[in-house]
Amino acid sequence: MYQAVIGMELHAQLLTQSKMFCGCSADYWEAPPNSHVCPVCLAMPGVLPVINASAVEQTVRAGLALNCQIAPFSRFARKNYHYPDLPKGYQISQYELPLCHDGWLLIEGDDGQPKRIGIRRAHLEEDTGKSIHVVPLGPVSDRANRRTDGATLIDLNRAGLPLLEIVTEADMQSGEEAYRYLVKLRTILRTLGVNSGDMEKGAMRCEVNLSLRTAQQAAAGQYGVKVEVKNLNSFKAVRDSIAFEIQRQTAVLDGGRAVRQVTMGWDENRRCTVVQRSKESSEDYRYFPEPDLPPLELSRAWVEQVRAALPELPDARAARFVRDLELTPRDAALLTVERAVADWFEEAAAAYGGAAKEVANWMTGQLFALLKSEEGNIASLPLQPAALAELIRLVDAGLINRNTGKKVLEQMVATGQPPAAIVEAQGLAQLSDESGLAQVIDALLAANPGEVAKYRAGKTSLLGWFMGQVMKETRGQANPDLARALVLERLER
Ligand code: ZN
Ligand code: MN
Repeated sequence: MYQAVIGMELHAQLLTQSKMFCGCSADYWEAPPNSHVCPVCLAMPGVLPVINASAVEQTVRAGLALNCQIAPFSRFARKNYHYPDLPKGYQISQYELPLCHDGWLLIEGDDGQPKRIGIRRAHLEEDTGKSIHVVPLGPVSDRANRRTDGATLIDLNRAGLPLLEIVTEADMQSGEEAYRYLVKLRTILRTLGVNSGDMEKGAMRCEVNLSLRTAQQAAAGQYGVKVEVKNLNSFKAVRDSIAFEIQRQTAVLDGGRAVRQVTMGWDENRRCTVVQRSKESSEDYRYFPEPDLPPLELSRAWVEQVRAALPELPDARAARFVRDLELTPRDAALLTVERAVADWFEEAAAAYGGAAKEVANWMTGQLFALLKSEEGNIASLPLQPAALAELIRLVDAGLINRNTGKKVLEQMVATGQPPAAIVEAQGLAQLSDESGLAQVIDALLAANPGEVAKYRAGKTSLLGWFMGQVMKETRGQANPDLARALVLERLER
């Protein structure tokens, strides 16, 4: 058995109007290639970058929400490397003095307890352009094809977009914890309105680093060889690639071999990691302070002003659910992991009008189980919050029992039909009619004189068996309280 040590790096596109260091529109998605460019983001000689104030404010908002220290003095730095999508030959980033550092975010750990994931730093940098590798489509004799076949085209619309890079401490131990970290982080960023959370459009891009160590190594504060995994296009890919790497590295170590220090990619089709390049020496980016930009100096007063204007964040919302709606801390945490879920819950609780705890029970129990089996999200359900409230009221009123309610909910999720219509159409209303139920029970006792005698001789545990028979006879629709009272009344006679 090895312990996995996992850290994560996430690049999130900020939601600014313009790019990080020039006035080009940041709304680059679907724009014609190279239409959102200017001398600054094309890296013409002699141009000067200007810091986007909104990007700085969004980064500080994110940093505060992640419980970070905000540096009163920070600096941009040049990260030097060559790649076709990087026209300057360097990326403006932050290095030794990041804007935000030493924060944390709370997730549910694998043991079910709250767990802090340390945020080492959150800094501001610029995005690169996009390389488009042209795949041959037609005959080479076609002039248009000859021009681009096999070529790599560069689109610089994305070059210079503001990116927030968030680096965690290696505090996660499984793919599940990493998944929960990302979901929580996305909720925070969306709540702040600083990121769309749209992974398909590359608005969030993450990389994992992972190593395994033995209990002895852990006790001695030592680490195993670190492997990086890139090209992760979904949170599921993150979770699955970590599970795969833990298995792969465990097999390597169990076989008495050493894990190689490599950068891996995730192959979604084959569902395995593949080596992208070996990493014998770490890259040297020759970082140095950006000479064309002044240091960023933020006043304490301004930072406090930004802090005071933050919206209600998931943890605060969970605390309010516990305080005002009397939810258990666990239910409150589960219901606030995703903003859409929390909104849905509040809407259902308002429509219900009774104890919100009851709505929380139905959601974290039955509804979440259904969502998991359907691999869906709450917004895609044909089920409205008011419909769940109506279902719970049917149970409260005794028209259906709790178990029938669960079956009705399943059908509501599958069909989008209102609960009353499902109960009516399928005759699911529970038997609360006393004389009808009494007939069933009288017949049952008459058919089982032996069991009745045993009960009366002192084997009272048989009550459960009788109740089971009543439920069987009524296809689970008997009002359990009434049935129990009627059975007891007769047995104790
Ligand atoms: Zn520009
Ligand atoms: Mn970066």
